[in-house]
Amino acid sequence: MSKKIAKKIVVGNWKMNPLSLKEAEKLFINIAKSVSNFKKTGIIVCLPFLYLEKLKSTSQRTKKISLGAQDVFWEDAGAYTGEISGDMLYDIGAKYVIVGHSERREMGESNNDVNKKVKAAIRAGLVPVLCVGESMRDKNHEYLNFIKTQVIECLNGVSKNFISKVIIAYEPIWAIGKGAYPATPEEFREMNIFIRKILSDKFGVKIVEDIKIIYGGSVDEKNTEGFIKAGYADGFLVGRASLNPKKFSEIIKICEASDK
Ligand code: PEP
Repeated sequence: MSKKIAKKIVVGNWKMNPLSLKEAEKLFINIAKSVSNFKKTGIIVCLPFLYLEKLKSTSQRTKKISLGAQDVFWEDAGAYTGEISGDMLYDIGAKYVIVGHSERREMGESNNDVNKKVKAAIRAGLVPVLCVGESMRDKNHEYLNFIKTQVIECLNGVSKNFISKVIIAYEPIWAIGKGAYPATPEEFREMNIFIRKILSDKFGVKIVEDIKIIYGGSVDEKNTEGFIKAGYADGFLVGRASLNPKKFSEIIKICEASDK
């Protein structure tokens, strides 16, 4: 597992929440207050595009939280109505961007699209948080081939120089959202080892030691420790619990305690 850099990464995905800038500012400030004593964990909050500019100055003031977006377009500029480029995101204060989230893949995004987005993010100086995950598990372990294809196709053409900048979020689709159950730490550990092996074969063992592989899917303050201790998670991609400052900061507190 990743030994070189112990520091954990916790990425909050606010999705299409909250519904007003005022509420977004309030939520962000409350999160910033609740994480103000933490020193070691990389804390990132991925906001709706519209809130990035306003919250940039708040995040700079509080210093603890980096901003991220939830998607990016693959072209850098031009006639692409409704799209937002990596340079635009970087300019407005984003340092990270989620790419290939299952909710976007469900709307038709292919591995090829995600691959172009990963490369666009890197070109713009953003850290891509690449989401991979199967919709179901089968007895023949076909889901492993599915994940392998996702990892290989989504990282196609990414050079060795940049691969350690990519964060891989393993998010089984069956574990995401209301009413779903998280994977077990053991299920995550299996996938963590499997993804690291795919990456080592492609990019070499040395580089891959630095890559963060994080878990997402119904993460909360109760299951965080298990994923770290038994799953060797380098951190988390957190949906619902990232909208609750108390739960989100508890998750980070557990990460801090694990990075001795
Ligand atoms: C997500 O959609 O990225 C996610 C992890 O959601 P939740 O934590 O709500 O399951």
